Amino acid sequence: MTYVVPVPTPPSLPTSGGALFPVRRVFCVGRNYGDHAREMGADPNREPPFFFTKPADAVFAPQPASGDAGPAVPYPPQTADLHHEVELVVALGRGGTAVDPADALDMVWGYGVGVDLTRRDLQSEAKNLRRPWDLAKGFDLSGPCSPLRPASEVEHPDRGRIWLGVDGVIRQEGDLGDQIWTVPEIIAHLSRSVALSAGDLVFTGTPAGVGALTRGDMVTAGIDGVAELSFTIE
Ligand code: MN
Repeated sequence: MTYVVPVPTPPSLPTSGGALFPVRRVFCVGRNYGDHAREMGADPNREPPFFFTKPADAVFAPQPASGDAGPAVPYPPQTADLHHEVELVVALGRGGTAVDPADALDMVWGYGVGVDLTRRDLQSEAKNLRRPWDLAKGFDLSGPCSPLRPASEVEHPDRGRIWLGVDGVIRQEGDLGDQIWTVPEIIAHLSRSVALSAGDLVFTGTPAGVGALTRGDMVTAGIDGVAELSFTIE
């Protein structure tokens, strides 16, 4: 069979072992740390987690351009309020439907640290007008992510410092142990709404301290014992 237009290259992330992780779909958890829920004007509680998505090709590992200081991420169009949200990223190696939380970690291939870049002004407008968030969250290159590391290297992190700095000043700092919904609970919930598959990624929510980025900002982010990521906004 032939195709009528060129077949796009499948999105992927590098892994610590050198082989690529093929990205199938990208799910993101809304408010999963109480202090961030409060800073967004919400009341943190154990209501079921909610999800939104980014296109698979929104996720990428920023690569250093030849001869320059470091990887660059473009400042996106249609916003004057680009926000950073540092998140633990879960990479699924197996699929499942209506998964029991006790079995969910068996589906995880590995982990990384990513930034859920958000056009906050568009998101606020969408919320006010009761419209979808899609273009506030799912724009091009909105999910810079570290190389992924297999669970065989990092185990299944359920606590540990998660942080993001801009130009060397810490903006976000939290602990994975403060997540309202744990990784197995998130996978179990999500698998009741969609059939999860190998290649799916889950961005698991951000701690407090989200804020605006401007051109020239150098972003560094990490999860202790898991991964680090750095890039400059261009
Ligand atoms: Mn987020």
